[in-house]
Amino acid sequence: MKKILILLCLLCTFGCSSKEVEEVKEEKTEEEIKEPVKLTSEDYVNNNVNELGEVPIMMYHGIHDKKNSDTEYTGGNVDKDGYQRTSEAFRNDLEFYYNNGYRMISLDDYVDGNIDVELGKSPIIITFDDGLSNNIKVTGLDSNGDIIIDPNSAVGILEEFKHKYKDYNVTATFFVNGGLFGQPEYNEKILKWLVNNGYDIGNHTYSHVNFTTVGSEESQKEVGSVYEILDKIIPNQYVNIVALPFGSPYNIEHDNMKYILDTNYNGKNYKTKSALRVGWKAESSPFSKDFNPSFLKRIRAYDNNGVEFDIEMNFKLLENTRYISDGDKNTIVVKKDKESSINNIYNKEIITY
Ligand SMILES: [Zn+2]
Repeated sequence: MKKILILLCLLCTFGCSSKEVEEVKEEKTEEEIKEPVKLTSEDYVNNNVNELGEVPIMMYHGIHDKKNSDTEYTGGNVDKDGYQRTSEAFRNDLEFYYNNGYRMISLDDYVDGNIDVELGKSPIIITFDDGLSNNIKVTGLDSNGDIIIDPNSAVGILEEFKHKYKDYNVTATFFVNGGLFGQPEYNEKILKWLVNNGYDIGNHTYSHVNFTTVGSEESQKEVGSVYEILDKIIPNQYVNIVALPFGSPYNIEHDNMKYILDTNYNGKNYKTKSALRVGWKAESSPFSKDFNPSFLKRIRAYDNNGVEFDIEMNFKLLENTRYISDGDKNTIVVKKDKESSINNIYNKEIITY
């Protein structure tokens, strides 16, 4: 079977004909074409499946090439508020999420209700704001002209975990300002490398504006000009999601929200499907009536000795409320008493137990 598939792939390089496909179909054994194993209520009970559970969207900023003992703050925080973290702390966080049964999905997939996580596991989303150079620090170009990434920058560490845990589904969304990643000579190569290697780029406004201090025209310029830059370098490959600088405006009813979500700039219209707040807690399942993609909360990924909604506190809270997958992204599986909380905007098959 394997041999035939390889042959087919080679043939495909030169254009597949329907005859070749048919031949492969005939060669398939009964075992290979059988349906995936149907789960029973017992499987759902044993795994405590809950697809109306909460999903953590982690908010990072800078990752500094330091040990935790090099900082004067707790748990690898580089600044007082923990917006900046050490590379040691980031590695520890990624290890912690993995060991606690979390698997990464992209923010874009979450917003679209595509939660592809194996049975019994929970989704987690990683985001970075501000396009800091330590998110993906380029140290030079190799002989092919490809970027060489500092292994202790955020992407360097994410790539390390991509190889360490093949089932971690490593991905993250980077929200950039007008200066992109602050490495003018490499910015274009960086954006292309990221989207070609399973990462996403989103919009954090041109000048990191506080939307409560500007009018409608300035708001549209701040959002539209970043989309325009991304359009030139990675057309159709970035995500139409805005991370609100400072989490502002803090109220979804604010006048500027409609200009953030529906922006006219330089003769073009840009629709934004999600705006991200600087939150404190995990978000609702995209299948819940509480889900509102226009205003999503995030968890500040920092250490505060288990209080003030730091990582430890949030993941303790999530123990009882987390989203737990049935392993099939096309179904919504929940306990019977929760069915009335579903808002099935993605038209998935609903299974109760
Ligand atoms: Zn920011």
